[in-house]
Amino acid sequence: MSYTNSLVTCAFPYSNGSIHLGHLLEHIQADIWVRYKRMRGQKVIFICADDAHGTAIMIQSKKENITPEQLIHRTLIEHKNDFLNFNVIHDNYYSTHTTENLFFVKKIFSTLQKKNFLKKKNIYQYYDIKENIFLPDRFIKGTCPYCHTKQQYGDNCENCSSIYTATDLIDPKSILSNTKPLLKKTEHLFFDLPQLETFLKNWIYSGVLQSSVLNKIKEWFITGLKPWNISRDQPYFGFNIPNFPNKYFYVWMDAPIGYISTFKNFCHYNKDINFEDFWKIDSPHQLFHFIGKDIIYFHSLFWPAILEAADLRKPTGIFAHGYLTINQKKISKSKGPMILAKDWIKYLDSDSLRYYYASRLSSKVEDIEMNLETFHEKINADIVNKIVNLASRSAYFINVYFKGYLSKELTDIHLYKILISSSRKIESFFENRDFSLVVSEIIKMSNIANQYVNTEAPWNIFNLKNDISKNRVQNICSLSINLFKIIITCLKPIMPDLAQKSEEFLNISLKWEDIVHPLLNHKIALFKKLYSRINKNQVHFLLKTCTLK
Ligand SMILES: [Zn+2]
Repeated sequence: MSYTNSLVTCAFPYSNGSIHLGHLLEHIQADIWVRYKRMRGQKVIFICADDAHGTAIMIQSKKENITPEQLIHRTLIEHKNDFLNFNVIHDNYYSTHTTENLFFVKKIFSTLQKKNFLKKKNIYQYYDIKENIFLPDRFIKGTCPYCHTKQQYGDNCENCSSIYTATDLIDPKSILSNTKPLLKKTEHLFFDLPQLETFLKNWIYSGVLQSSVLNKIKEWFITGLKPWNISRDQPYFGFNIPNFPNKYFYVWMDAPIGYISTFKNFCHYNKDINFEDFWKIDSPHQLFHFIGKDIIYFHSLFWPAILEAADLRKPTGIFAHGYLTINQKKISKSKGPMILAKDWIKYLDSDSLRYYYASRLSSKVEDIEMNLETFHEKINADIVNKIVNLASRSAYFINVYFKGYLSKELTDIHLYKILISSSRKIESFFENRDFSLVVSEIIKMSNIANQYVNTEAPWNIFNLKNDISKNRVQNICSLSINLFKIIITCLKPIMPDLAQKSEEFLNISLKWEDIVHPLLNHKIALFKKLYSRINKNQVHFLLKTCTLK
C-alpha cells in the first residue's frame, strides 16, 4: 500500500466563455480515471481552476460594461456548476486570479531572475492602430508559416500544432479591426529556454509522454528551442511584472503556476497534505496533467523547463487527447457545432455523455468523433437493452416470489469466474486510460450474462407450485443479478448516477475489492427503473437550441 498522493489536473478553462462538450471530454476523461484510482484505494487529489487572465477577458468585460473581476467571478460560478452537473467532482476548483497565484508567480519569477534565466530584449510586435493596442497572439489571424493553413492564430497552428510568433504568420490581420497590424518596437522579458535544452532532452525520455507526443517534440528540438516571451504590454488583465512598468506576465506564464496555487489553496483546507513535500524536486508523489493536443508544447517544454529552473518537481505523466468532432465537424467557438454543457443537461443526462466518451477514449492522442445521429441508439442498445435489462428481467422473480432474497449459493461458479477474469483485464485498461477497451469488455460481459438468462429462460420454467422449479428460478435470477453487480462495479467510474441507483437496488455499496464476493442470501430492494431510454427527439431539441445560438 502506497501512501503517496497523486495530483491530477485538467487544463484550465478560459474565463470568458461557457463550458462546452470539448471541455467535458477532457474533464470526464480525468474524472473517470480519478474515480477508478480511488476505487482501488489510491489517494488522489483532483484540481482545476479558471484561467482568468489575458486580453480576451479585458475586452469581453469592456463589452459587457463590467470589471474583469466581475466577469471572472460570474464565470467561475457558472463553470463550477457545469462540471458538477456532469459529476466531474474536483477537490478544488479555483482561479488563477488569486493572492496565492500572485505569490507563486512572483516567487518563481524572482528565482528565475536570480538564476539568470530571464533577459530583456527589444522586439517588434503587432499593433492595431485603430484600437490603440498591442495585439496578443490570439487577436491576430493569418496563414501558418509551416503548413500554410489559413486562419490560424498568432501563437500556434491548430492544424500542424507548430508554435511560432505572430510575426511569423503570413498575411496577418487584427481580429479586432480586421486591418493589417503594424509592427511597433517594445521591450519584453524572455525566459531562456535554450539554457534548459539538455535537461529537456533527457526529461522527455523519462516515460512521461505518449509516444506520438515524444515524436512531435523530437521534431521541435530539430527546429530548435527559442527564448520564450513571458511578458505582455498594457492594456492587459493579469499580474504586473515587478520593476517593469506597464508590463504584465503573459497568461501562459501564470496559468500553469495555477496548478501550484490551486493545490496550495486545497492544502489550506486539508492540513494533512504537505504542500512542500509535494512540490520539492525529489517529491515522492505523482503529478498528472490531462490536456488537449493543442497545448502540448506549453506542458511538455515550457512547463517542465520553468519547474526545473525554479527547483521544483516535474510532472509524472502528461496525457494529451485529440479534438472532439461532432458529426465529423471540429467543434469551435467561431465555427462548427458548439454544444454547451448547460444545454446538454436540459435535454439529456450526464451518464450518457460520460459513457459515450468512455466508449471512444483511448490512451492515444486521437480525435474523438461523436455521431449525434446514432448517439441515442448506442446508449439504448448498450445501457438499456444489455446492462440494465440484465437486472430488470431477473429482479421481478426475486422481488415477487422470494421476498427480495438472492439464493444461498451460486449455481454456475464457472460463469461467475469468467466475468471476474474480465474485470481483471478491465483493471489494466482503466489504469492505462484505455476506456474504450473497458467499455467493449463490459459489453462482452453483458452479452455473456444475457445469453445465460436467455438460455435458462426462467419465465418458461417458473411454476409456483413446484419447489424444484422455484428453486431453479431463484438460482438463475440470483446469478444474473450477481453478474449485473460485477458489470455495474466496473461501470461505476464511468456512470456514477447509474451506479448509485444500482447500489440502492442491490442494497450495497459497490466496491472494487468486492467484485470477487457474490451476494448470497442477500436482500435486494424493489426494482425501480435504473435508466431511461433516450428518445431521438431529445437530441433533436438539443441541436435546435444550439443552432439557434
Ligand atoms: Zn500549421
